[in-house]
Amino acid sequence: MEVIKEISVMQKIAEELRREGFIIGFVPTMGYLHEGHLALVKMAKDKADKVVVSVFVNPLQFGPKEDYEIYPRDLERDLNLLKPLGVDYLFSPSVEEMYPRGFQTFVEVTELTKGLCGAFRPGHFRGVTTVVLKLFNIVKPHFAVFGQKDYQQFKVIERMVRDLDLDIQILAHPTVRDHDGLALSSRNSYLSEEERRSAISIYQALKYAERLVFGGERDPHRLGALIKEYIEKFPHNRVQYIEIVDPETLEPVEKIEKDVLIALAVFVGKTRLIDNRLIRLVDEYIAMEARDEEKIPQS
Ligand code: AMP
Repeated sequence: MEVIKEISVMQKIAEELRREGFIIGFVPTMGYLHEGHLALVKMAKDKADKVVVSVFVNPLQFGPKEDYEIYPRDLERDLNLLKPLGVDYLFSPSVEEMYPRGFQTFVEVTELTKGLCGAFRPGHFRGVTTVVLKLFNIVKPHFAVFGQKDYQQFKVIERMVRDLDLDIQILAHPTVRDHDGLALSSRNSYLSEEERRSAISIYQALKYAERLVFGGERDPHRLGALIKEYIEKFPHNRVQYIEIVDPETLEPVEKIEKDVLIALAVFVGKTRLIDNRLIRLVDEYIAMEARDEEKIPQS
């Protein structure tokens, strides 16, 4: 695996790979890798001839009071995790390389970024889309893989690619979880033992919510209140938002009658964690109808 720090070097390599007819798969990350990231890399490896992983903690996507300074960084550790997977290139530029003096161009997806995390992290998605577009121009991938754990980010990137006619396929990988259901995140390293125990309630609450919906709950407001109550029974937990939204537009629904996404952000102590669950109500209806049909006695 080759480690590349300079944009011009990465671009030249990408250009050559393309000229030789290789399919380039790309996985952008902020490093401090875990099994969630590695699953994305494996997916890329399965579909590509050459895989590029980037590790870059992007200052543009952090708010002034957020954790940019203390975000965990350990490139040596990341390298050792990526090597056995057969990753071809690790692109890890400095902040000065990505944002030299005079930088003043930004990319913004205007609507999908208004709600959910966007409502609480002004400028966050502008930072994400700007860096991802830059990385796409540097790595020149045929496809890129994103995690469904950051569902809004995935939809925002998909939208940017469509709107700006980027010739790149965007693939999603399901959320990878710890043995007890907690979604893997580099930020889990901030949690104390006790906080870690409370954090499990997030996944439990999402599953509980799904059971309620399949049991007939159709009111998103009541559902949201029940999820909040469940999570906040645990010490250290404070819900920032819970939204039940249309999985395509990310707009809140007034009644749960087709597939919905339950998305939430929770502070566990000082650590902000996000998670989501796609509730496939349409599939459930089809399954219910099939079950009903089976029950009809054949004459
Ligand atoms: P990050 O390093 O947090 O910016 O994440 C880099 C990529 O990994 C993003 O596409 C994330 O959605 C994805 N990712 C992070 N955690 C997980 C997880 N637990 N399961 C699946 N994908 C993840």
